[in-house]
Amino acid sequence: MAKVVLAGFMGSGKTSVGSKLAELLDVPFFDSDAIIEKRFGKIPEIFKNRGEQFFRKVEEEVIAEILNRKTDFVLSIGGGAIVSNKTQNRIFENSIPIYLSIDIRTAFERVRNSERPLAKDFASFKKLFYERKSIYDSLPFFVDVQWKTISEIAFEIKSFLEPVMFENPHRISVSVMPVSEVKKLLPGFYITDQHVFNLYKKLFENKKGVSISSGEHSKTMQTVVNIYDKLLSLGISRGDFISYVGGGVVGDVAGFVASTLLRGVPFTALPSTLLSMTDSAIGGKNGVNLPYGKNLAGTFYFPEETFVNPMFLRTLPLEEVRNGSGEIFKYALLSENGLFELLENANQNLFKSISVKEIIAQSVSEKLSFVQKDPFDRKGVRAFLNLGHTVGHAIEKLAKFDVKHGEAVAFGIVVSAFFSKKKKLLSEGDFERIFNLYKKMGFKFPEEVFSYREIYNAILFDKKRSGGKVLWIIPVKYNRCISMNVSVEEIAKTYREVANENSCN
Ligand code: NAD
Repeated sequence: MAKVVLAGFMGSGKTSVGSKLAELLDVPFFDSDAIIEKRFGKIPEIFKNRGEQFFRKVEEEVIAEILNRKTDFVLSIGGGAIVSNKTQNRIFENSIPIYLSIDIRTAFERVRNSERPLAKDFASFKKLFYERKSIYDSLPFFVDVQWKTISEIAFEIKSFLEPVMFENPHRISVSVMPVSEVKKLLPGFYITDQHVFNLYKKLFENKKGVSISSGEHSKTMQTVVNIYDKLLSLGISRGDFISYVGGGVVGDVAGFVASTLLRGVPFTALPSTLLSMTDSAIGGKNGVNLPYGKNLAGTFYFPEETFVNPMFLRTLPLEEVRNGSGEIFKYALLSENGLFELLENANQNLFKSISVKEIIAQSVSEKLSFVQKDPFDRKGVRAFLNLGHTVGHAIEKLAKFDVKHGEAVAFGIVVSAFFSKKKKLLSEGDFERIFNLYKKMGFKFPEEVFSYREIYNAILFDKKRSGGKVLWIIPVKYNRCISMNVSVEEIAKTYREVANENSCN
């Protein structure tokens, strides 16, 4: 699906990139400014004779007209079009919006001698640039166009739009889609949470289903029973479908409901957090918490298809993005297929850059490589996916879940890498690369530092302990790990060295 809108400041190359991209995708190209000029005459004249307000109104209408098209297109919109709230909402709903990001000096050099009414002097150009930048930054994706040719940018966007598919052990597509298209992927009865429901109301219009309250406290048997009741009262039968939209909590509950209600109803998964896109919606595990602990009741049950759509990330708060990126950091250290390098070389703002699709796809691929070897988690192969989790779980527990899972896991990875460096299993250079990526991904050391005894006890009661030792996953290269039996004393000691003395800096 390619309904693409290119936005950006004047001089960012929207028209040239748009026309090249449309050619590569073999879809029609529209330029809102060109359409307006064809209908009303030159833009400087419209500004002079009818005023900016008139121009903005016409611009809104022209953009709405293109966005209403049923078939694919590439549309470049004028630099100021995005200021209109109506236009913003329509774009978010009906297209894949991409911001062509450019540095202010380069943009001004490109347009200073043009007829553009808003590019007469640098001071007012600069003022406008920063006024609009915050709006462009709210777009879900950007591509850095500095120092790239038109062709390079167009090919980069084309590759971002291409879906990545996986088939084994269940079908997964990683594909960027406009929200309006997502509705078609929700057959049968939906399950979501209140927060997602409120953000994406249109998706659920005229559909039957249930929305649970948001957050971990909903992952209970009582919620499952309430959903059974609701879906049965709505008339669900074995021939129906369940589709869920939500993060790991909704996914775990919905998967469990689908696998048990009426002895199993087929379901589709639409993960909407970074964590669920790269972890919980992959591999067929579901479950709920019991008073005895987390995830103690559940099944393995594969969705008919998992639709991973990075468009959902637009509304995800930064702390939830960070939460999901802990697992991605983990996959990078487990993967020899280039995920580490991809993250190292990608733009600072990783999850808004158009590299995000590839980052997610590679993470999915990495998780699947373990799931495929051991789909029902009986051979211990998935133990590698615990990288960072021994110390991570201990910190989460001691901080009473005030530290996000992703932050705790990422820190746990640094602790195991530091241990490996101490034991001369990991080179100084590779440790530095790992630690630099940790910082680049925006992680910070958890503020609260626990005592040796607290960490020791927390790890000792972790389910992986055996005879005072833990099967610890440690990196021996920036992108390769081994498992090793390590005493809880040594792990707790290393934690203190890293957390207390901050020995990594
Ligand atoms: P979550 O489902 O609680 O979502 C976090 C928050 O983000 C919620 O408030 C939710 O309403 C909100 N949200 C969801 N999508 C949004 C969007 N697009 N925009 C704005 N807000 C949005 O938490 P999570 O981190 O996604 O998942 C954590 C759960 O996943 C835990 O219960 C964990 O045990 C489970 N998990 C399961 C597996 C598995 O293999 N089954 C693996 C890892 C984690």
